[in-house]
Amino acid sequence: TVTAGVVAVQGDVSEHAAAIERAAASHGQDAEVREIRESGIVPECDLLLLPGGESTTISRLLQREGIAPEIRDHVEADKPVLATCAGLIVLSTDANDDRVETLDLVDATVERNAFGRQKDSFEAPLSVAGLDEPFHAVFIRAPLIESVGDAEVLAAWDGRPVAVRDGPVVGTSFHPELTDDARMHDLAFFADD
Ligand code: GLN
Repeated sequence: TVTAGVVAVQGDVSEHAAAIERAAASHGQDAEVREIRESGIVPECDLLLLPGGESTTISRLLQREGIAPEIRDHVEADKPVLATCAGLIVLSTDANDDRVETLDLVDATVERNAFGRQKDSFEAPLSVAGLDEPFHAVFIRAPLIESVGDAEVLAAWDGRPVAVRDGPVVGTSFHPELTDDARMHDLAFFADD
């Protein structure tokens, strides 16, 4: 059994839990999903998921509850993380916004809500490094990945990176939990199997 922690401040926890369970099942494993709202849970988790929501709110809670240093330890121990949308913003190096205290765990700078009003939300078939078939990506007030340092770009849309990997962390601008396709969760959590 793998213990999967989902930061449950905001965002669609149950969809992520379902995708984690599906990805684990495809490797013959069970997943026990723990919701993270306070400190003490992250150290018990094999893998972590930071969902979308509002990055200002999420980062404030992670700092206030003392969860942020636990996430840092998790990454330093080389344990996998999937961070989506606001989750990616929170883990980035810089979000160009003082209200977001970034954790500097993904070597990339991002810009919040950067796709513009007409493209506030959109869907696109994405080629993702490591996946054979395109992934149907749903973008909702998504961040733009402005520049990438040591992180590897896994996917781009319109010439802009929308999925990156930095060590054990995979970050996506889009919401991979909103389709039945668990391949991004699989890629983030079980790539070594
Ligand atoms: N717009 C949100 C933010 O900047 C992110 C949107 C999302 O997670 N779907 O924090």
